[in-house]
Amino acid sequence: MTNTTCRFPENYESLTFFVAGAAGFIPSHLCEYYLEKGAKVIGVDNFITGSPSNIELLSKYKNFEFHEMDITQKLPSLDKTKIDFIYSLASPASPIDFSQIPLEIMRVNSEGVWRLLLLAQQKGARFLEASTSEVYGDPEIHPQVESYWGNVNPIGPRSCYDESKRFAEALTTSFHKKFKVDTRIVRIFNTYGPRMRPNDGRMIPNFINQALKNQEITVYGDGAQTRSFCYISDLIESMHHVMFSSDHMPFNIGNSGEYTVREAAEVIVKYLKSSSKITFIDHHLLEDDPKMRRPDLTKLVTLTGYRASVSFEEGLIKTADFFRSLF
Ligand code: UDP
Repeated sequence: MTNTTCRFPENYESLTFFVAGAAGFIPSHLCEYYLEKGAKVIGVDNFITGSPSNIELLSKYKNFEFHEMDITQKLPSLDKTKIDFIYSLASPASPIDFSQIPLEIMRVNSEGVWRLLLLAQQKGARFLEASTSEVYGDPEIHPQVESYWGNVNPIGPRSCYDESKRFAEALTTSFHKKFKVDTRIVRIFNTYGPRMRPNDGRMIPNFINQALKNQEITVYGDGAQTRSFCYISDLIESMHHVMFSSDHMPFNIGNSGEYTVREAAEVIVKYLKSSSKITFIDHHLLEDDPKMRRPDLTKLVTLTGYRASVSFEEGLIKTADFFRSLF
């Protein structure tokens, strides 16, 4: 691995970013990041899991354009529009979505991504596929390095997401090899921050909301499974660095601090000064639940120079402030 530096634009005002899934948690922060830099951002979302309030926030920027649209059906008519960068971020991603909308997830990560890649080919735009640590499944090596091929159940409760994201990576790689589309792939590990859906079923929103209300913290199983949590601003910077790097192969992005779910519950109670008690429960989402997850970030740090810096405490407090504002 050679040490390369990212080549960032000097001026963003002449650039257009197309963001699929703009109303979602991560993509809405990404849109805001480029809008603040003065770029034009075109966002698309069908609100299947995205939130209209995120689009309201972005609409205060005059350089933001939004289209309510399902990318598996069509894309906006962009014949006369120059597009420089495309971010493929349109997939629902929470384990509760996997049981409720599995076919929509598989369709967006296949037909939807295909359509975005054709747009990239047509426009000569650089394309970034937002993949996931779920491509590693329930990993047999730890921490997970990009060269690991994963341990995925093709017919389990997570397979609609895991397998369709693996397909999206294969599709992206094929467009690069066959048509020379300038592609990037990031594998996003657990990420948290303001604008997460409070009822999205994931650990961080559940635990923070339970702690704020002094309710029991619901740890699934014995809580010995591990995760590594990245604050949203670090995740956006990582994704931006990869977009402006020169490597077409996947990059892990996230934070390498690792906690058992039980430890995460304990620190959330402590940092939020809650009186909640921790309870251990059996839950259907435990089937195929990865037992350990931590990104090996050597490639990201070596090739882009970026390293996550927001502490779990700081990130949790900011995220709790957001959830409190919704009460
Ligand atoms: N989890 C939990 N209690 C909850 C929600 C999740 O113990 O109320 C566990 C879940 O079983 C998993 C971990 O927390 O082991 C992270 O789950 P999450 O849904 O946030 O994301 P995942 O990493 O599984 O995609």
